[in-house]
Amino acid sequence: MNRAEIVDKYRKYLYGVTTYYKEPLPFVRGEGKWLQDADGRRYLDFFGGIVTVALGHCEPRVVAALEKQARTLQHVSTLFPTIPIGELAEKLAEIFPGDKPAKCFFTNSGTEAIETAILTARVHTQRTEVVALRHGYHGRTMLSMSLTASGRPAAYIAEPIMGVGGFITPPKDYFPAVAEIVRRHEAVFIADEVQTGWGRTGRKWFGIEQSGVKPDVIVAAKSLGNGHPIGATVARAELADSFKGSTIATFGGNPVTMAVCRTVVDIIEKDRLADNAAVVGGHLRARLDGLGEKHAAIGEVRGMGLMQGVELVKDRKTKEPAPEAAAAVMESAKDHGLIIGKGGLYGNVLRISPPLTVTTEDADQAADVLDKAFGEAARV
Ligand code: PMP
Repeated sequence: MNRAEIVDKYRKYLYGVTTYYKEPLPFVRGEGKWLQDADGRRYLDFFGGIVTVALGHCEPRVVAALEKQARTLQHVSTLFPTIPIGELAEKLAEIFPGDKPAKCFFTNSGTEAIETAILTARVHTQRTEVVALRHGYHGRTMLSMSLTASGRPAAYIAEPIMGVGGFITPPKDYFPAVAEIVRRHEAVFIADEVQTGWGRTGRKWFGIEQSGVKPDVIVAAKSLGNGHPIGATVARAELADSFKGSTIATFGGNPVTMAVCRTVVDIIEKDRLADNAAVVGGHLRARLDGLGEKHAAIGEVRGMGLMQGVELVKDRKTKEPAPEAAAAVMESAKDHGLIIGKGGLYGNVLRISPPLTVTTEDADQAADVLDKAFGEAARV
């Protein structure tokens, strides 16, 4: 199928989807940090399918684990224990950043994992209110979209760095201060690690660990599966054990996904990718800060590790958002062979989240392209 045919089918038979760029960009192949489009052009992928492809595309060890499990046992549901589900749950309970022991519930997406976390908090506290943050994003269902309230809360939920919100990074003392208030109200502290988990913020497994706060529940998805559908809710056992009602996610914990995720976690650990995220992320950040000094459209560079955001503004003093400039930079970066993402309430924040495997040379290449793209966008 050629480019036009792929795009035509997408337009004709899908709804509710949006695409990046003036002309949708169909991809046909991925290998490591590279993507290939339908015309055979290669792109350096610095977005990783929305902060998901942590190990690069089609990582051979992940593909091998997937193939092996697909030939062994694919699906029985959680009504029956399997080897892969127990092994992944054991590993996640071991690296859980809160007080241990911990237990897991598996689903297929971040949204479902959030729902599970909220339900766990509600059952445990016997309360319903949930405090969430402006600019936060926790999913696409009615519940996850309505998370913001005040009163006597069952839970407080936050992303250590707000992903969709535009990589908004709170000051160091924010989470410790909030955690103290949450504890005082005997509410449940939920860290939404859907984007910030698995070493992305550097050195640590989870973003919340950067603040020293111990969460009661963490929610994970995206990078844990390196592109395979996964949602994981990991809760302190005391909370998990209040969850007496039995619920079923038919595909939650399916053996193939479990085997994939376990392999992903093992690779992140063995290849020390959280350390790499800190080193290469530090280098990338220095380069982006340099661009911030050079290009007037850059209002702020923010983030941690390999999760870096560049906010575009019309004026540095008023901070008026510049979504058109963000779109122009993205378009031009793509023309120069670099894929990045976009976010923020006003669509004016570039989101940079490459695989955790990238090198400082890759970061330099991306920064050089962005430098060019900012120059070109300023001339439009
Ligand atoms: N939480 C956060 C922080 C997210 O970024 C997202 C997805 N962008 C979700 C939850 C929902 O995940 P999913 O799209 O897998 O349902």
